[in-house]
Amino acid sequence: MKYLEIVELYDRLAGTTKRLEKAEILADFMRLHAKFGTDTSWLYLLLGRVFPEYDTRETGISRQLALKAIAYASGENEFKVQKFFTSEGDLGEVAEKFISGSKQKSLFEKEELKAMDVIETLRKISEIEGKGAVERKLDMIKGLYSRASSREALYITRTLVSDLRIGIASALVLDAIARTFFENDASARALLEEKYLMSNDIALIAGCTSVEKLSKITLQPGKPSQVMLAVKVADINEAFESCGKPAAFEQKYDGFRMLIHNAQGEISLFTRKLENVTSQFPDVVEAIQKNVYGKSFIIDSEVVGYEPKTRKYRPFEAISQRIRRKYSISELQKELPVEINVFDVLYYNGKSTMELPFQERRKLVEKIVTTKPFIIRPAIQIVTESEKEAESFYHEALDIGEEGVMIKRLDAPYRFGRYVGYMAKLKPATNDFDLVIVGAEHGTGKRAGWLTSYIVACRDGDKFVEVGRVSSGLKEKEEEGMTYEEMTKLLRKIKISEEEGIIRVEPKLVVSVTYQNIQPSPAYTSGYALRFPRITAYRPDRSTEDIASLEDMKKVFKKDK
Ligand code: AMP
Repeated sequence: MKYLEIVELYDRLAGTTKRLEKAEILADFMRLHAKFGTDTSWLYLLLGRVFPEYDTRETGISRQLALKAIAYASGENEFKVQKFFTSEGDLGEVAEKFISGSKQKSLFEKEELKAMDVIETLRKISEIEGKGAVERKLDMIKGLYSRASSREALYITRTLVSDLRIGIASALVLDAIARTFFENDASARALLEEKYLMSNDIALIAGCTSVEKLSKITLQPGKPSQVMLAVKVADINEAFESCGKPAAFEQKYDGFRMLIHNAQGEISLFTRKLENVTSQFPDVVEAIQKNVYGKSFIIDSEVVGYEPKTRKYRPFEAISQRIRRKYSISELQKELPVEINVFDVLYYNGKSTMELPFQERRKLVEKIVTTKPFIIRPAIQIVTESEKEAESFYHEALDIGEEGVMIKRLDAPYRFGRYVGYMAKLKPATNDFDLVIVGAEHGTGKRAGWLTSYIVACRDGDKFVEVGRVSSGLKEKEEEGMTYEEMTKLLRKIKISEEEGIIRVEPKLVVSVTYQNIQPSPAYTSGYALRFPRITAYRPDRSTEDIASLEDMKKVFKKDK
């Protein structure tokens, strides 16, 4: 497939805001290419990516480097390119203005750019490391630009910096696939969704043109899937209403979700964002090898940190360093040991166990996991129909410092996503939200070199709207948790622009924020502001899909009023 065809498709899709129209445009395009038997990898490009979604590698090109590349390839002055970017705010447009490769060569000389050329080159760029990496990356980008028309350069550039700006989400692609191959049938659409959450690979899904082919997609140890999520309940009564009676109650550990895969002895560890964290947790790998029985499996767990001397459990923030840190791992693992609390199993010795009722899956967990306190254990659980018993289990969990309890329906299968009635969470009403940082400002005095004030936002559909500024909660020293210095480094990497002292960043970094109350405010784009906000944790394990929505904010506001 020619890259130009994708570019024309991008433009057509960008030309309408109506979801249905977009799905139809895409379905027409797919129909045409299905006839030719085209490889479906081009769909990654449509999502603004070059790797499948289960592979969280990024091209690793910052906006600054992209600007350099545009200047380098076009022979323009870097300052001039930068200035144009500052006024336009879209790197794609900068590339479109300055890159005009097609004009330099005659039509015959020009080697046609294929979609696969763009994918493969960007993949190679992401792998370049070590000495002279920047120069080699610049050369490869220049090579691509030299073959591109200016419109192609626009989209190549946006893909390079992971900012496609045409609003194509995977759900829309699934809609289009349902239209193309399944006559828009509702049950096929549900199956597409399920298999997509399982495989996280849009090209694989689009290659399945029948229910039979789709059904063959299965879990594969070594390849991350999404996880089952919980709905919130307000009290024990509601917990039983939601999950049935009797139900299983488990402690809600304050750690982070880890999906543990064993593919014939090869262990890999994934966060719920699908990030592979195996190399950060050699202790977990060892604990699994020694204490979980089976040739191949996928188990679901919460990993919790504890104080090595006192063996007191520590809140998530204390161990978030273990996800972030990529060096001196063996020291860190001694200072911040973790316990694996296994609460589910999705796959065992060559077979999916997702369809088994939870009760059966739990039995399997108990059978295969050896209990070694402070290393690994099945999550602490009771099964009860008594409100009194459930209530006291909940209070015991709170007393020992856990966040609350999780409630699970005994006969429910495992499903990816948020299913009503399968799993619920109960915790005391605390004023906190997970939010994403969209902007930052420099500190003053002692903190002058750092970005110390953060503009945070919640979700509103597929947009983000601001809900306040938060400048307290991070630390000055690493031992105490996430520092201003480290956050500053992370933010600089994703900087988009800077104006009047406010740095705008890509919405990527998720933080948990507590606050006193919510009030209406014209100062922020959501129309609301959090009063006295404070960051309690940086959440590298969560994505922007997990953050609070404007609806959530409105609900709390109404209730408090
Ligand atoms: P929340 O993050 O507030 O939506 O709560 C759900 C999260 O609690 C899950 O995604 C897990 O990471 C975590 N969790 C802690 N303990 C358990 C447990 N026993 N069963 C399931 N999830 C748990």
